[in-house]
Amino acid sequence: MTTPKHPLTPDEEVIRAQEMRVVSELTDEQRVLRMADELRRGFAALTNVSPAVSVFGSARTAIDHPEYRRSAELGRKLGEAGLAVITGGGPGAMEAANKGAREANALSVGLTIDLPAEERVNRYVDLEVHFHYFFCRKVMFVRYASAYLALPGGFGTLDELFECLTLIQTQKIRDFPVILIGVEHWGGLVNWMRDELVRYHRISPEDLDRILLTDDLDEAVERVLAAVARQQIADTG
Ligand code: AMP
Repeated sequence: MTTPKHPLTPDEEVIRAQEMRVVSELTDEQRVLRMADELRRGFAALTNVSPAVSVFGSARTAIDHPEYRRSAELGRKLGEAGLAVITGGGPGAMEAANKGAREANALSVGLTIDLPAEERVNRYVDLEVHFHYFFCRKVMFVRYASAYLALPGGFGTLDELFECLTLIQTQKIRDFPVILIGVEHWGGLVNWMRDELVRYHRISPEDLDRILLTDDLDEAVERVLAAVARQQIADTG
């Protein structure tokens, strides 16, 4: 007989919790309450954070890498334009974007997450909201931002980027700008999407047209501000 084991990850706690060999302290009802509590806390903490942008990017960008400086510059420019900057509150590009926002005296937000290799919130976050469940945290990235910007990154960044693109494509959220910073980093992916996804009708050309791919941080900020202005007109009109 196999010995029951505790869930190893938050996902295992949810997805495999019904298996006899995974024991958990939580009942499903308690789990649902915990999820609801995370959403409630997130909504309460972020309700006045507007206008804001969500900035995604690698947790691994080294502090002495040019990419870190560019990410900080992006955060600063967004902050100077009057935008709150929401990141995952972790290290690397997230930290850099928070640093830039702080330098611009803008609100610097970190949506931190329980991870096995526990890392502290970066020191440039002014408003931290902590999450156990990735999916609750994702709601916050999407709900409180008027645009999504992705700096070079890995799986986490790709996941967040495609989450936003899917929600826009399926009209679950408004047509907010999705901006990829770094032509060299993102160019190959965009080409692949054109050559494979558009060409073989897996997405529509408009799905790709809504993505701005640029190295120009000012162009990125202008695109965000134009969208914020459009949204404000739509909200008041
Ligand atoms: P990656 O591109 O794989 O480095 O993942 C970065 C993205 O995933 C960020 O935009 C974060 O939202 C999330 N993420 C990954 N690692 C962390 C971390 N240590 N702290 C907070 N968020 C993280």
